[in-house]
Amino acid sequence: MKENFPILVVDDDIVSRAVVQKYLHKAGFEVVCAGNGKEALTVLEEQFCPIVLTDWMMPEINGPELCRLIREKQTVGYIFIILMSARDSKNDIVSGLESGADDYLTKPVHPAELVARIKTGIRILSLEQSLRNANEEIRILSITDPLTGCYNRTYLGERFAKELSRSQRYKHSLSVLLADIDFFKKVNDTYGHQAGDIILKAFSKCIMAQVREDVDWVVRFGGEEFLIVLPETDCIGATVVAERLRSAIYQLAIPCEQATVHITASFGGASACFTQKSDLDITVEQLIDRADEQLYRAKREGRNRVHVTETLARSCNHPPCVDRS
Ligand SMILES: [Mg+2]
Repeated sequence: MKENFPILVVDDDIVSRAVVQKYLHKAGFEVVCAGNGKEALTVLEEQFCPIVLTDWMMPEINGPELCRLIREKQTVGYIFIILMSARDSKNDIVSGLESGADDYLTKPVHPAELVARIKTGIRILSLEQSLRNANEEIRILSITDPLTGCYNRTYLGERFAKELSRSQRYKHSLSVLLADIDFFKKVNDTYGHQAGDIILKAFSKCIMAQVREDVDWVVRFGGEEFLIVLPETDCIGATVVAERLRSAIYQLAIPCEQATVHITASFGGASACFTQKSDLDITVEQLIDRADEQLYRAKREGRNRVHVTETLARSCNHPPCVDRS
């Protein structure tokens, strides 16, 4: 867990708030204060406080209600809540914990007990954070191709439909490129499968370095076939990108064990421009199929070349797409 996180102290009583604040400062914690539940929610909107120490009796939004509201919120991490109250019957403690509090402190607060409870909270938050990190690692592994580090087809299935419907909704262009390493089987047969893996890594690294970070994304689509998704990119833009990629691949010198290998790649692309009525209903499969047709055309015409097409639109306002064979 991050050091120096602020603890949010919520209490309508200025004196008891100041006392708790003093104890926490003394123990080396950073403190943010709020005078009631409503103010606390405003503070939490502005900054993430992983530990909240709240009084029970407060005007407008009381402690248990604040606990419930915090639990309903989407927060960047878990918030450990300690409820403070002079009410110390078993029923009170149970109902406090049931409202979403993690721990309970009886007022007047004892300084050593307060710090011990905060430390318990920190231990639990650290565990929660490591669990969160582990889950994130598992998630990344589940959507990534282990060899190349590109996304895999699981991720394509998750994201592409969303990307497409976003483009359709805002009438923005969306292009896809299918890139395939030419004569890859021959490369594998000549230099061996280990060299094949080195080439695939170098190829994907080169592609990823050439596209826009955080906008474009690359999927290992098949063995030596990669799909590049280019949001906000029309047919002309996609052709320019594909040509840039083709040229970068052409210039690659890939050191394998016994030789330096040069490769070429063919590119087929399809662009949907959603100002075209005919493109409005286009599906993910259709877009990829059209790119695939263009890839075959590039292969048929001699490889190491680019073909990009508009998708379903029969007539469009763009100038004709450029073939840079
Ligand atoms: Mg009070």
